[in-house]
Amino acid sequence: MPALKNHKIVLASRPVGEPKPTDFRLVEEPLGEPGPGQVLLRTLWLSLDPYMRGRMSAAKSYADPLEIGQVMTGGAVSKVVASNNPAFSVGDIVVGNTGWQEHAVSDGNGLRKVDPAAPISTAVGILGMPGMTAYTGLLNIGQPKPGETLVVAAASGAVGAIVGQIGKLKGCRVVAIAGGPDKVRYITEELGFDVGLDHRAPDFAEQLRAAVPNGIDIYFENVGGHVWDAVFPLLNKFARIPVCGLIAHYNDIEPRQGIDHLPILMRSILSNRLTLRGYIVHDFADQQQDFLRDVSGWLKAGKIKYREDIVHGLEKAPEALIGLLKGRNFGKLLVKVAEAN
Ligand code: NDP
Repeated sequence: MPALKNHKIVLASRPVGEPKPTDFRLVEEPLGEPGPGQVLLRTLWLSLDPYMRGRMSAAKSYADPLEIGQVMTGGAVSKVVASNNPAFSVGDIVVGNTGWQEHAVSDGNGLRKVDPAAPISTAVGILGMPGMTAYTGLLNIGQPKPGETLVVAAASGAVGAIVGQIGKLKGCRVVAIAGGPDKVRYITEELGFDVGLDHRAPDFAEQLRAAVPNGIDIYFENVGGHVWDAVFPLLNKFARIPVCGLIAHYNDIEPRQGIDHLPILMRSILSNRLTLRGYIVHDFADQQQDFLRDVSGWLKAGKIKYREDIVHGLEKAPEALIGLLKGRNFGKLLVKVAEAN
């Protein structure tokens, strides 16, 4: 009988600007065996997320970069197919940071059993890292209050869609920004946001101004770039800005040229008493139980929705990540790597 194989995708080269398919390499290797205390996992769902672009770069960040040849980092939902660890049984469904590969060997550290009450893919979506990012950033930093105006960018995506829906549950007027008419239709008609704006419209900045007659109390920052430029002059006194992501800049090669915006920004922070706070989701790790209780409760009660964008097959992951950085995904981007059975 031929030896069983694992397939994985490794970082082949560091991208300059937009990643290219040749920055990734598909590698075949013999399937590992779990040692004492270890489990062998078969990946079912791989999550693709914008932070992966950062790991491909050697630039200093909040997490170490990947080495060339290292398996691409990523969260995944997996099935335990062999176990030498008493905490896990064959057949358990788990979530963990096991990377872009069909199988992974783990000692169980960082693995969490998935609640079978919801579809298991949600463990890397609305009930996983992106959902928790939305929940913690909005509630801790945004501090939404009834009647306030919340503006959210990348509002059809994994994080933004949840931010806007929690904002609505908290009584905010939600002005949501997305790219293109289909996404704008979705965020208004399906998610029920008060206003949907297409950031690609030539008069986007004027449309935003007209949409926030009382100014902006909370801006949930997912993108930066021209969306931030349009939002910034409209911020109210004491506005809160959870700085969650800056996807418009992840492929930048050089700093933006032109006028120095820093004095203007600092003057506004001072005179308008703005709160801009950056955060990484694990800063709020101690709120995971609150998050799971609240968001799974809203989900069960039909008060919150999610949308998945699924590509099939591990080998499709590089193109899908490249597309994510350009707005090609529509909802939480997932790779279906294998069937659960
Ligand atoms: P999404 O599912 O929202 O996908 C990314 C979206 O970003 C695209 O679909 C596109 O939407 C939008 N986008 C891409 N390029 C641009 C651009 N140049 N200008 C404006 N919009 C753009 O991704 P996530 O929900 O997973 O992530 C959203 C943000 O949250 C990212 O910045 C990510 O890095 C950040 N994040 C931060 C975390 C933290 O701990 N701080 C954790 C998780 C995510 P559209 O077509 O609508 O423009």
